[in-house]
Amino acid sequence: MILTSIFTRNIFKRTIIRNIFLYMTFASFLLFSSQAQALRIIRDAEVENYMQTLINRLIVARGRKANSIKPILVDSPAFNAFVADPSHIYIFVGAILNAKNSYQLSSILAHEFGHISLGHLYMWKQEHNNNLIKAILTGLLASAGMMIAKSGEGALVAIQAIMEMYQADNNASSRGQEISADMFGVQTLEMAKIPPQSIVDIFTILKAKTNPLNIKTPLWIMDHPPTSERIRQLKLRVKQLKTYKYESKQSVYNYRLIQYKLRSFLAKTESLKEIIKTTHDPYVRDYVNIVYLYRIGKTKQSLRLLQNLIKHNKNKPYLYDLAGQISFEGNMFHSALSAQLVAIKKIPNDPMILYPLAQTYMKLKGKSNYKKAMMILEKVLAQDKSMPFIWKAYAVALSNYGKPAQSQLALAHEFWLLNKRADALTLAKKAQKSMSRGSKKWLEAQDIIDISL
Ligand SMILES: [Zn+2]
Repeated sequence: MILTSIFTRNIFKRTIIRNIFLYMTFASFLLFSSQAQALRIIRDAEVENYMQTLINRLIVARGRKANSIKPILVDSPAFNAFVADPSHIYIFVGAILNAKNSYQLSSILAHEFGHISLGHLYMWKQEHNNNLIKAILTGLLASAGMMIAKSGEGALVAIQAIMEMYQADNNASSRGQEISADMFGVQTLEMAKIPPQSIVDIFTILKAKTNPLNIKTPLWIMDHPPTSERIRQLKLRVKQLKTYKYESKQSVYNYRLIQYKLRSFLAKTESLKEIIKTTHDPYVRDYVNIVYLYRIGKTKQSLRLLQNLIKHNKNKPYLYDLAGQISFEGNMFHSALSAQLVAIKKIPNDPMILYPLAQTYMKLKGKSNYKKAMMILEKVLAQDKSMPFIWKAYAVALSNYGKPAQSQLALAHEFWLLNKRADALTLAKKAQKSMSRGSKKWLEAQDIIDISL
């Protein structure tokens, strides 16, 4: 699990966020604005792949291509989710933890998918005069997902702009959009053979968390469709739809494991002790304990326990990914490598499994290892060119391998993604000098020069 984008400035203090999924989660707003000094994006192969499966079930049922909408995990306890571009759904950890099963979480995703499919992004773009917001919503600045996944000023500005847009959107048309996204969502659930009742269930959980008597609640929140009204409308709609069986016990258990993974990495270590003490599930107990020991720095103990868990759970590929991460951070690069090689065999081509493997090869040094790292990062970049930290790692690998011009080009990409245009321009020009005019790499550098001017 990689935590990226540590925003040191508190961008939420001066902005009340319009919770795009549900308006009445004011309790979580407070939590968010008072505690979130930093907004972090979580990159984790297991959780992302799990969320992708949920999203795919919904979008494929609506005739869209699998993976055409991707999840982005936001490290925040807020019960929230939002969209800011047509190809990503931002899911807050708080939403995953509050939902009781994958069907309930799918209801949230179906609602957000509704905003994308019903053209709300386009309408928001029309309604706002802010050029930055327009650019983000059009995808001109690449996706906001990409922007948020990097730790630069650009990301900060983009997210702030989007949040301000949500706040400003306190009008009748946005209220109508929420209801229509609900209706789209409930219909999508039916098409995906998920009991539509799930959306009523998740709203009911949310309602229980709401504190309507909070005198600090600003008026604009009162104006919005209250949760009870949305529940009423959804109930009426659900009656007209086909229903399906609830998910199996195994499926609910798998969802719980994802929740435990997020908790064990993100909750305060003190609270993990309580889980370890009270849980009756030996797998959960061991897993949480492993992450707990790792987080308090008892690497060896953590790895010993993990080896044992792997022995009895050879079919769980992400345990190898975990072993790789813990070994790597404990500076045991050879054990990291062997674990990561098993992980990549079991989950081939996954960028978030490949990236740590490349990191390990870099630490092992030597020309052949630098070459391996280089080639692995090329595989990652072939899938997704939008992550600056991948370009940075690639630049280091190229430089170590002895390709300085290509390394400069990779850095130019990184800077461009971080919105540091002047630096991107300088490096692309530098790189071009040692490339033959008109070659593929030369043209790539020229593209960066053109867009940075
Ligand atoms: Zn919404």
